[in-house]
Amino acid sequence: MKKKRVVVKIGSSSLTNEKGEIDQQKLVDHIHAVASLRKDGHEVLLVSSGAVAAGFVKLGYSSRPITLKGKQAAAAVGQSLLIKSYIEKFTELNMIPAQILLTRNDFSNRERYKNAYATIMELLERRIIPIINENDTVSVEELTFGDNDMLSALVSGLVHADQLIILTDINGLYDSDPRVNRSAKKMDIIDKITDEMLAAAQASGSKVGTGGMRSKLIAAKTALSLGVPVFIGKGSGTEKLLEILEGHGDGTYIFNRALGSINTRRQWIAYHSEVAGRIFIDKGAEEAILFNGGSLLPAGVFEVNGRFQKGDVVEVFGINGLLGKGEVTCSSEDLQRLIGKRSEERKKQPLKTSVEVIHRNKWVRA
Ligand code: GLU
Repeated sequence: MKKKRVVVKIGSSSLTNEKGEIDQQKLVDHIHAVASLRKDGHEVLLVSSGAVAAGFVKLGYSSRPITLKGKQAAAAVGQSLLIKSYIEKFTELNMIPAQILLTRNDFSNRERYKNAYATIMELLERRIIPIINENDTVSVEELTFGDNDMLSALVSGLVHADQLIILTDINGLYDSDPRVNRSAKKMDIIDKITDEMLAAAQASGSKVGTGGMRSKLIAAKTALSLGVPVFIGKGSGTEKLLEILEGHGDGTYIFNRALGSINTRRQWIAYHSEVAGRIFIDKGAEEAILFNGGSLLPAGVFEVNGRFQKGDVVEVFGINGLLGKGEVTCSSEDLQRLIGKRSEERKKQPLKTSVEVIHRNKWVRA
């Protein structure tokens, strides 16, 4: 099989027990499965939860804390315990792990995003196993990735993974809740996540983790939009990840060949950038950027909202609403001036300019 880049997401309940301890047996099972993938020539990145779950008992809590400071303190204790276990077990198999703790800001800041990418690439090139988690201890509540399912989807996009494997304790997606409906049917392969599926999926997760099936579906939808195929399901034993990669996993495969991988610049614009302003464009410009693969030229802009600088990201609105986002080549002031000048000049002669406001390579549809 062709060498693949695989992101494996391991949830808290697949790593710890309800007593708040790391389950060494479960951990060893995952690590041996990673080793098998590596032996076959594949690159592996782990997105591992379990920091809060492994830390709360040591902190004196009897169950997973619900306050922000409790969770953040538990993560500080648990992340060190978790990574210590990973280092011990990987070392026994002559593999070297590296800890990467990310916050949402690391993705919304363009330079930090590029740095994270470069660092992960360097680690992979040197055959290190990146173990990624959200930096829970310092994350601000309103500015998190949501959960590690979403983090794993965004990381998969960033590294242009060939496969995202979300390991969980349910063997995939069903057309109704299998615990309530005994004739619920498992979906083996699907090519999209529909609104009905999202509405039907359970939102809550386990006692030790956060995500439920709904958060996995939202993450899968994101990964899919970034061109990354997803597997959601379970497995056990040394060969579980290889079996999943070969298409024999016990779960649901979600892929759509029509959705290709998108470059990291566009991913950043679509999912991580902060919007600095809005511009409103006319029908002709709308057609050019939506259907003719064109760039947005100043002649199509009739209104500018907000203050932005060259290089910022703005939302673009057409007659019927939001069309997408793009990186501008000029400031809001320059654009205002251009529009003003144009109405003056239009009286004499039509505006002729080919300098684009948003280049088509820096544009993403909503
Ligand atoms: N980052 C959290 C932890 O390590 C887990 C988030 C999640 O469960 O999705 O505890």
